[in-house]
Amino acid sequence: MKKTETLNLFPSSTPSETPTGAATKRMGRSENGGGSSDAETLWARCLEIIRDNVSEQVFKTWFEQIRPQSWDGSQLTVDLPSQFFYEWIEEHYASLLKKTVQKVLGAKARLQYQVVVDDSETEREQRTIKLPAFRKQMQQPLPFDAVASNQPEPSPTAHYPTYFNPRYTFENFIRGENNQLATSAAMAVADNPGKTRYNPLVIYGPTGLGKTHLVQAIGNRILQRNRNARVLYTNSEKFTMEYINAIQTNRLPEFTNFYRTVDVLVVDDIQFLGGKERTQDMFFHTFNALHQAGKQVVLTSDKQPKDLADVDERLISRFQWGLTADIQPPDFETRMAILQQKAMEEGVDIPGDIMEYIARHVTSSVREIEGCLISLLAKVTLDNRELTLDLAKDVVRTVSNSNASRLLTIDDIKQEVSTYYEQPVELLSAKTRKHEVVLARQMCMYLAKQMTQMSLKSIGLHFGGRDHTTVLHSCQQIMNYIDTDAKIRGDVEYLKKALRS
Ligand code: ADP
Ligand code: MG
Repeated sequence: MKKTETLNLFPSSTPSETPTGAATKRMGRSENGGGSSDAETLWARCLEIIRDNVSEQVFKTWFEQIRPQSWDGSQLTVDLPSQFFYEWIEEHYASLLKKTVQKVLGAKARLQYQVVVDDSETEREQRTIKLPAFRKQMQQPLPFDAVASNQPEPSPTAHYPTYFNPRYTFENFIRGENNQLATSAAMAVADNPGKTRYNPLVIYGPTGLGKTHLVQAIGNRILQRNRNARVLYTNSEKFTMEYINAIQTNRLPEFTNFYRTVDVLVVDDIQFLGGKERTQDMFFHTFNALHQAGKQVVLTSDKQPKDLADVDERLISRFQWGLTADIQPPDFETRMAILQQKAMEEGVDIPGDIMEYIARHVTSSVREIEGCLISLLAKVTLDNRELTLDLAKDVVRTVSNSNASRLLTIDDIKQEVSTYYEQPVELLSAKTRKHEVVLARQMCMYLAKQMTQMSLKSIGLHFGGRDHTTVLHSCQQIMNYIDTDAKIRGDVEYLKKALRS
């Protein structure tokens, strides 16, 4: 049986829009013509572009696995082998895919992902790569199914659902002062899992600095040396979902046993255990069982164990039994080395001054550095732009801005504006037409439109269900003030700056 889960990568902003004719014209077909053979032809053309933009390794690992399914004149549907695969693609290659698809299929074309879950007996091997999906967890098998359904005790030859991504290795991880201790400890653990004093190994630090990369590298190295090692990668949210699912489906004993049979358990982002008392309890017992049996536990967190909010003290004290190592933002030299490494992985040569510009200006996270590089390469290859310092400056500006606006929520904006104008937040959504409140409300709407990806409609909903035309009017009103009123122009400048920092 083939189950599919449909996930939209980049739906067009207004669903009713008719698709552009670009792709269909090029194909010489009517809009609803097409099917799987069209899908194959179109996807093959996408692959040609993608191949030029990623390394051979990346291409083989990710893009060759994608199967085109159908093309309906505006939407190309492709099958992906697993939820993990989907998340990976979305996190790392969404922008490349988007550009490529729009180039081949037209500006308004959509790409639709389906995650294929194959349940047939004959394809048992394939089952080991399934992931419990967040969105449809009730219908999805639990990770231990792959093992448990075969035999009560996983035999050494049973395929273990490990979820390690071969892309993350020690070899392609740049060592710098910022991650020295964490990297050494991770390597030591990979060489001797469960046998070092680093048990548990806790790696902590802000987002985008390589925590996941390092702990995945541990798993990959262990598996490289012993293909049958029972190494499991999960994160605290998945662990929670699976636990809830196990309770709901009366499979708690299987869940418990499964986690206790691993040799190495890697749990990413344990900060999300905060406030989940029963999950923490379950995790506490799992941890004890593994630790007592001399099995390795590796954890990551965005803060030190002692600072974890709403996590039981006894769990925190266990987290401190082994080694806690931090990762800091990389310094300039490390950022340069990372850029060189990433450029090499992508198989491109980037002039020194451009590298240096990026390394000097993108400082907060490695993920952002990568983002700049990818978007620079996309511009060069897909838009046929010349690789110049000016282009790099452009890209750095956009990437930094879009990151700032992505993080911003409408609540941040309401909070900032209401403090600034000294108006209670509740009034922003109320019916009052008092001048000061109206101005604060209009300012919020304007800033939300400018600084977030929200539509006029959804902005309106956040202000007591106001109509999108009201939001539009508010934005225009503030823009008029900006032209004519120095005080309000100053307000806008101040608020934007405050919201960005
Ligand atoms: P975190 O889990 O800390 O949020 P990730 O491990 O997901 O961060 O890292 C984000 C991206 O940056 C990944 O693609 C990773 O490969 C890359 N990265 C981070 N640090 C390094 C490094 N020192 N060398 C090479 N790549 C790195
Ligand atoms: Mg991570």
